Order: sequence, then C-alpha cells, then structure tokens
Amino acid sequence: MEDCIFCKIVNKDIPSELIFEDEQIIAFNDINPQAPIHILIIPKEHFASLNDIPDEKKELLSHILLRARQIAQNIGIEEKGYRIVLNTARDSGQEVFHIHFHLLGGRRMTWPPG
Ligand code: 5GP
Ligand code: ZN
Repeated sequence: MEDCIFCKIVNKDIPSELIFEDEQIIAFNDINPQAPIHILIIPKEHFASLNDIPDEKKELLSHILLRARQIAQNIGIEEKGYRIVLNTARDSGQEVFHIHFHLLGGRRMTWPPG
C-alpha cells in the first residue's frame, strides 16, 4: 500500500524505534505515547483493520498476541500487567488504517476506556 504510513515503517522508508521484528510482524514505539510503555505491533502484510483479516489468517492474529506477551516479558511488565488495544473502524477512534495492536504498560490503567 503506497500511501500507508505503517507500510512505510515496515519497509524502513520512514524511521521508527524498533522493538521487535520477525518474518511476519514488527513492533515499534508509538510516536505519541499514552503510557510509559506504548508499543505498536503490526503485521508486515497490509490489512486495513480487523474487519479485513480473513479467517485463514487466524494464525497471524495469535502470533501477534503471543509476541505481544513475549515483548511484555522482555521489558519486565508481564507480572505488573499491561493492556493490549485493537481499535477497529470509526467508532473505536482508529486513525491509521493498517491494523495495529497497542501494547500499553508502565502505569495503572483506568476502566472503562474513553
Ligand atoms: P489508532 O488510533 O489508529 O488506533 O492508533 C494510531 C497510533 O499510531 C497512534 O497512537 C499514533 O500515535 C501512532 N502513529 C501515527 N503515526 C505514527 C508514526 O508515523 N510513527 C509511529 N511510531 N507511530 C505513529
Ligand atoms: Zn499498510
């Protein structure tokens, strides 16, 4: 996707603070963090949102969640806790239409979210 900012991050056409990368996904720091730890985890393949992921890609979704847990372990917040957010379409507030999971931590979260 030529005009997708996260595809450009995947392709290293624009820089990011890389946290993790493998064949399927990359994780990098959010440019406007909402918590002391705010990492975005995205598939390298472009899908606009969860609504665009076909059932055959279910392994990709589980892979992202398991790597999110591994990143939380690696940065030492696994026990204290963390929040994973997946905004989907307009009412959620999704702004970037390349699916991304937010991994938030390092502070006590509130509930309900805004
Ligand atoms: P959304 O509201 O779509 O769920 O979240 C989009 C997130 O992407 C926001 O938290 C925003 O700060 C982050 N973001 C937008 N553009 C960039 C960018 O160019 N680089 C990085 N690292 N994060 C970005
Ligand atoms: Zn994209």
